[in-house]
Amino acid sequence: MNIRKIREQLAGSALRPQRRFGQNFLHDWNLACWIVDCALRGLSSPWRIWEVGPGLGVLTKLLLGKGAEVRAVEIDRGLAAILRDRFQGEADFHLCEGDVLRAEWPEPTRDWVLIGNLPYSISGPFLASLFRHRTPFRRIVVTLQREVAERLVAAPRHSSFGSLSVMGQSFYRIEIRKRLPPSVFYPKPRIDSAVVWLEPLQAAPVSSEDREEFCGFVRRSFLHRRKCLGKSLGCQERRRPEELGVDEWVEIWQTLRG
Ligand code: SAM
Repeated sequence: MNIRKIREQLAGSALRPQRRFGQNFLHDWNLACWIVDCALRGLSSPWRIWEVGPGLGVLTKLLLGKGAEVRAVEIDRGLAAILRDRFQGEADFHLCEGDVLRAEWPEPTRDWVLIGNLPYSISGPFLASLFRHRTPFRRIVVTLQREVAERLVAAPRHSSFGSLSVMGQSFYRIEIRKRLPPSVFYPKPRIDSAVVWLEPLQAAPVSSEDREEFCGFVRRSFLHRRKCLGKSLGCQERRRPEELGVDEWVEIWQTLRG
C-alpha cells in the first residue's frame, strides 16, 4: 500500500493518523514482504499468527495470502471497521477490537507467531508483559523504536543495558534483524525503528512458574541503577545493576529467595 492509498483509505472513512495510538503506517511493500518472510521462514505451516495493531492490514493481507490464520488485535474503532470490511469473507481472519495490553494471549495448546509494528507508546509495557508471562509464541517479530530494540540486545555495562535486557535475554534469543529509517512509514515518525526477532530459549534459566517473580525482582533492582546492589537488596553485592550478566542475575535472585 503506497502513501496515496493509505491517505485515501483513511480519508474514505474520515480518519487521520492518530498519534496517541502510534499510527505510522508501513508503506514499503518490499519491506512488508521481508517482515512476513522473517516471521514465517523455517516454520512449518499451518501458521497461526497473532498480530498486534494491524492498522490498515498491510501485513495481514500478506499473511492471509500465504495461507496463515491471523488473529489481530486493533484498538482503533475506525481502523477495525476498515479491516472488517477489507477482510470480510476471509475465514482465517479474526479481529479482536481492543487494547492489546488487556487482551488474553492465544491458547497455549498450539504454537503461535507474534507479529506487529508496535505502537511506540506501548512497546515497553507490552514487552515486559510478554517476558513476565509464559506465552504460546514460537517466534516473535516486532518493529520497535530503535532505542528499545537496542535495550533488548544490550550487554552488561552498555549504556542501553537495563531491566528489559535482563528479562528478555533470560527467556529469549534476541536479534535485531533490520534497522528502518522513518521514511518507510506514513506519517514519518521522528525516530528510527528496528525489526527485532525473538525465539524462546530451549532451556531458560528461570522456570515458567517463577518468571513473574524473577522479572519483578529485576525491575525493582534496576530502580536504583546507580546504587550498588548490596544497598538496595540488603546483601553483600558491591556491583551496580548494569554490571551483572543474565546468569549472575539468576544466581543472585536464587540466593536471595533462599
Ligand atoms: N501494522 C500497521 C502497519 O504496519 O502499517 C500499523 C502499525 S502502527 C505503528 C500501530 C498500530 O497499532 C495502529 O493500527 C494502532 O491503532 C494500533 N494500536 C495502538 N495501540 C494499540 C493497543 N494498545 N492495542 C492494540 N492496537 C493498538
